[in-house]
Amino acid sequence: MVLFRNSPGILAIALVAILPLTACKREAKLPAESATTAAPAQTIPLDIWTEFSGQRALDNVRAQVEFGPRPAGSPELARARAQIVVTLQACGWNTEAQEFTAPTPNGPIPMVNIIGRFPLERGNKAGSSTQKIIVASHYDTKFFRTIAFLGANDGASSTGALLELARVLALDPNLAAKVELVFFDGEEAIQQFTETDGLYGSRYYSTQLRETGRAAQFKCGLVWDMIGDKDLTITLPQDSPKELTMAILASAEKLQCKKAFRIFDRPILDDHVPLNQIARIPSLDVIDFEYPPWHTADDTLDKLSAASLQIIGSVTLHYLKQNF
Ligand SMILES: [Zn+2]
Repeated sequence: MVLFRNSPGILAIALVAILPLTACKREAKLPAESATTAAPAQTIPLDIWTEFSGQRALDNVRAQVEFGPRPAGSPELARARAQIVVTLQACGWNTEAQEFTAPTPNGPIPMVNIIGRFPLERGNKAGSSTQKIIVASHYDTKFFRTIAFLGANDGASSTGALLELARVLALDPNLAAKVELVFFDGEEAIQQFTETDGLYGSRYYSTQLRETGRAAQFKCGLVWDMIGDKDLTITLPQDSPKELTMAILASAEKLQCKKAFRIFDRPILDDHVPLNQIARIPSLDVIDFEYPPWHTADDTLDKLSAASLQIIGSVTLHYLKQNF
């Protein structure tokens, strides 16, 4: 993610060895025994947003961080991806590994977006036509030659929280079936953000949505990024879709946490931009750009709080339940 006026300028060199992506299978089937981990349909919670646990989300964040730096194409990212897939499947989501090769300034790099879809009927394969909204995070971290960049907030926070969102949504299958969860690879620029460096996963995914005609089924999209800072101030980009912004702020107001949100004074370049511009799906970047450790070795777990993740998870669930 980067401001339009201000690109980070650290050069990356060739990425480390690339492992075959054996951990991910296309349209992996839900293991039968995992169906028992989700609650039966008759216990659908009325106030589903109260089910989100900031602490569970933070535990997921820690698990991602413990893989170490996770740049696109690295074996560490393959391990992080495998954990995302296993966690999704364990609470009833079907997963698709959307594989592609990204042309980068350092040559072609294999990348994989993970897409989660929820079946309306337990034990059945999820269809691809019930989804009305995308909720997304990037799970790669920016590669730095000179520092071990762990990306606790920038990469892991939104990824861990999205896995907790998956667990909670599974309590309400009808709602879950309307949500497409997407974990983007290659959000970070390999060298520095340009038209062709960065946002690889979201550009590929958005192009696929447009070319297959699936884009038309989506009402909107939410991108989470850097949502774990203890001092949480969500800086919604100035050029955000108005109706969606108002609806999210209404949910924040209802849950008495509107003070954690404000409108930023500039546009921000992040994974919502391809969704808006390529797929033409009105999409909002839920991001806290006021984070001093951004793209430094200090982006570590101690800067985050469960309470911040709780706010974003709860507001999003409230918004989903009220609008879908
Ligand atoms: Zn970043």
